[in-house]
Amino acid sequence: MSSTWHILGPGSLGSLWACRLARAGKAVQLLLRDHQRLAAYRAAGGLTLVEAQQTTSFAIPAQCCDDSGPIHRVLVACKAYDAAAAVACIAPRLASDAQLILLQNGLGSQDEVAALVPQARCIFASSTEGAYREQDWQVRFAGQGFNWLGDPLNPAQPDWFGDLQDAGIPAEWTVDILTRLWRKLALNCAINPLTVLHDCANGGLLGHLDAIDSLCRELGELLEQAGQPQAAQDLAEDVQWVILATAANYSSMYQDVQAGRRTEVHYLLGYACRVAKRHAVATPALERLHQRLVDKLQARNLPCD
Ligand code: NAP
Repeated sequence: MSSTWHILGPGSLGSLWACRLARAGKAVQLLLRDHQRLAAYRAAGGLTLVEAQQTTSFAIPAQCCDDSGPIHRVLVACKAYDAAAAVACIAPRLASDAQLILLQNGLGSQDEVAALVPQARCIFASSTEGAYREQDWQVRFAGQGFNWLGDPLNPAQPDWFGDLQDAGIPAEWTVDILTRLWRKLALNCAINPLTVLHDCANGGLLGHLDAIDSLCRELGELLEQAGQPQAAQDLAEDVQWVILATAANYSSMYQDVQAGRRTEVHYLLGYACRVAKRHAVATPALERLHQRLVDKLQARNLPCD
């Protein structure tokens, strides 16, 4: 199997992974959406990683998604709402033993991708690292964190996993990746939409603990019914801890709305509501929250799917 790391969507997290892998001497190939983006990338001469006081550039090769040549391993680093369409563009190039690492937040996009490429192995990732684009092709590593990777259909750790350690990417293989993704989704549902509706930093939610308690009760019940009891354990305590520990921070959803960017709500609160309906779990507080959020996004002319 080729050892090249293809990076589909070198935005914030994709660039962070690409630069660290390239720095460690791994073969990396960027996959860009079209020829215009490829020309812009080539004019810039490479990706730049800004870490603390250090700025380093990496002349990583790039090509378009619809270029030729087989792809054996690809990190899908698009937003959840773009992942399936982006993977559809590279699907004809995927080798029979292809492995996709899906970095998307929330749930739902992984199944959309897996349905498109049933022959490929789809590995799910949950990341707490933080990065943002300071400008095109330049990423700032803004928050140390960790990455959990796992495959709900196959517990075997892939043979390339050591590349992550070589590259200084903190990561662990887990057989419970769905538990991690569900827990993160539940924390997100209990915190992020309320920060948008109350126009506040995470700490501002300390004035709305009753609402958060109701949401946590419904989320706990939903997780139990959806076969994720571990993700439900001590959820309310964890939500309060996160609010206190990140009191001065603005949630990613809040930041997206403020910047007029599309949110990933369809794969977060929207996903929770869809699963609740499927399992016939009554979640009136989550439903109301979802509707209020959709109204707010529509009022700002932002997509709500
Ligand atoms: P981002 O900065 O917006 O980057 C997304 C990338 O996807 C861009 O390079 C974009 O290309 C590319 N893309 C979109 N559609 C494409 C297509 N059809 N073909 C090829 N490329 C395409 O996103 P991000 O912040 O890295 O987030 C990626 C995922 O990681 C999200 O689910 C997010 O929630 C999750 N996450 C992010 C962070 C973080 O700190 N950033 C932390 C944890 C989890 P263009 O540049 O051409 O638009």
